[in-house]
Amino acid sequence: MPIISRYLLLPALVLVFLASISLTADTVLAQPRPVKRNFDTEIQAALESAKSAAGFEFLGTLARNCLLPQSGGEDSRDNVPEYVTNPAKAPARDSWYAEPAKVYDNFYFVGGKIHSSWALTTKEGIILIDTIYPYNSEELVLGGMKKLGLDPKDIKYLLVSHAHNDHIGGAEMIQKRYGPRVVMGGPDWDMVEKFPNRYKSMAPKRDIVATDGMKITLGESTVTIWLTPGHTPGTISYTFTVLDRGKPVNMAYSGGTAFNFVNNTPDPGIGNFQIYIDSQRHLAAKAAGATVLLSNHSEFDNAYNKNRMLAGRGNGAHPYDIGAEWVQRYFKVTEGCARAAQLRLEQKVFETAMP
Ligand SMILES: [Zn+2]
Repeated sequence: MPIISRYLLLPALVLVFLASISLTADTVLAQPRPVKRNFDTEIQAALESAKSAAGFEFLGTLARNCLLPQSGGEDSRDNVPEYVTNPAKAPARDSWYAEPAKVYDNFYFVGGKIHSSWALTTKEGIILIDTIYPYNSEELVLGGMKKLGLDPKDIKYLLVSHAHNDHIGGAEMIQKRYGPRVVMGGPDWDMVEKFPNRYKSMAPKRDIVATDGMKITLGESTVTIWLTPGHTPGTISYTFTVLDRGKPVNMAYSGGTAFNFVNNTPDPGIGNFQIYIDSQRHLAAKAAGATVLLSNHSEFDNAYNKNRMLAGRGNGAHPYDIGAEWVQRYFKVTEGCARAAQLRLEQKVFETAMP
C-alpha cells in the first residue's frame, strides 16, 4: 500500500497544482477589469468611416442616419391615419408627384418625388416592388404604369419591403383588384394584423412569408429575397438582374434604411443596432458584384434626380450604374452610422456602471 501511495503522490500533486492554476485564472477573469475606453474617439472613428464612404453619392443616407436626430421609442399606437379618415388631409399633390420613367429595358419607376415603387417586367407578367401611400398609389403606381404602357392586370407578384404606410399603402387595393401573390417578411405580416387601425385600407391578406434566399421567379426573371431585419423586424431586401440596352446589370435593393427601431435605451437599443448592422453586412455580401443600389426612398438612392438625368444619357453611362465599389460603400455608410449610435448607448452603460 505505501508503495502505491508513493507512486500516486507525484501525479496527484501535479493535478492539484494544475487545478490551482486554472482556479487562479478563473478568479482573475471573473473580476471586473476596468478597461479604459475612449468612447469619443471610437464614435468619431465610426462617423468618419461613414462620412468617407458616403462621398457625394450617399449624402442623403449619411444625413439621415448619422446627422439628423433619431426618433427613438416604440410606436405602439393603433390609430387610423388622418389621410385615411379624411382624404382631404393628404399632402398636396405637388409635394409628391413625379413622372414615371422607363429606367431599364425591363424595369420601370412608378414612384413619386420621395418614395419609390418599381415594376420589373417579364414575359409572364410584372413583379411590382412597393406601393407608396394609400392616397397616391392609384395615381403614381397604377397611373404611372398605364402612362408607360404597362397593364396593372399583369402584376403577378407584389413585394412589400416593409410594413410602413409609405410602402404598403396601395397593397390591399392592388391585391383586391388584380390578385397578385403578395410577399412580405413574417414579423411585418404580424404587425399588419396587430394594428388593424394603423393599416386601415392598406392591409393585404396574409400570403407569402419571405425567407432568406427565397427566389421569386416569373418568366425569365428571378428576384432573390434577403431577410434584413432592422428598420422593421420583417424588412426584406432584394438582388436581381435587369437589362440595359440588352446587357445584364446586377441590382441591390435595400428595403429599409433609417433607424426606426427602439434605439433610445441601451436595452434593447444596443441589440437592435446589432441586428441592423448584421443585416447591412448580410446584404452587402449578397450584393457583391451589384453595380446599382436602389432603395425605396429617393433620399437614399437619388432615384428622382437620376430619372431626370436619363433623358440626357445619350451613349454615356447609365445614371443609376455607380459600379460595384460604390454599391458596397452604401453599406459602409449605414453600418458606420449605426455603429456610432450603438457606441453612444454602450457609453451610457459604461458610465452608469463606473461613474
Ligand atoms: Zn419605413
